[in-house]
Amino acid sequence: MARDSTPPDDKPERIFRSEEDLARLPASERIRYRLLGAECRFHANDNISAFVRAGEVEELKAEVQAKMQEVLRALVIDTDSDHNTQETAQRVAKMYLDEVFRGRYVPMPAVTEFPNAERLNELMIVGPVTVRSACSHHMCPIFGKVWIGILPNEHSNLIGLSKYARIADWVMSRPQIQEEAVTMLANELQQRVRPDGLAIVMEADHFCMHWRGVKDTDTAMVNSVMRGAFLKDANLRREFLSLLPRKHSA
Ligand SMILES: [Zn+2]
Repeated sequence: MARDSTPPDDKPERIFRSEEDLARLPASERIRYRLLGAECRFHANDNISAFVRAGEVEELKAEVQAKMQEVLRALVIDTDSDHNTQETAQRVAKMYLDEVFRGRYVPMPAVTEFPNAERLNELMIVGPVTVRSACSHHMCPIFGKVWIGILPNEHSNLIGLSKYARIADWVMSRPQIQEEAVTMLANELQQRVRPDGLAIVMEADHFCMHWRGVKDTDTAMVNSVMRGAFLKDANLRREFLSLLPRKHSA
């Protein structure tokens, strides 16, 4: 079926575009072009802030709003007469870009790291940290709690307690799969704090289980990541887990 007239490389993203050309594209295409050029992954749970320039989030919002309006139209909802849905496309676009998926478009919140001057080396537990996310299969909400266990060493950087919640929020504010979310959070913390051991447990409610599908109302998903000392030392692991409140101990 190969045709002689087909150019050898006609994928539009491979074509070099000048800044002028790029400026004429919708922001989403411009950002996509930069990502492809850098061979950078842009899955639902990836942070792409390094490729988003000033003002482009606002442009993305306008694009999402226009496309969301088309979704409502495809659902045969009369947004002209139905005052409840007149501004729904705009609200949803704002909610995605500024709130629930914000962790894709903005860089990590600034976190001050302190050297471990006191040479703390005892198990530290942060939590429960309330987290909100969305599943990337259905874009349905995920509500949950995260517990973080840290075993610092003398070379670890310590960060303020509230910063764990801010980093968790940044990682979770993207469409996710819970297993991957927990691993991503672990990677971020490992890189910043560099502890001897790191443990994370996440327990969450997936609304795609309640709102649709099996409509099971009693399922929570629990995931954990154990690294370093928590992997090697069963006592440390037990100590961490025993300090978490047991919701289903009956
Ligand atoms: Zn889902």
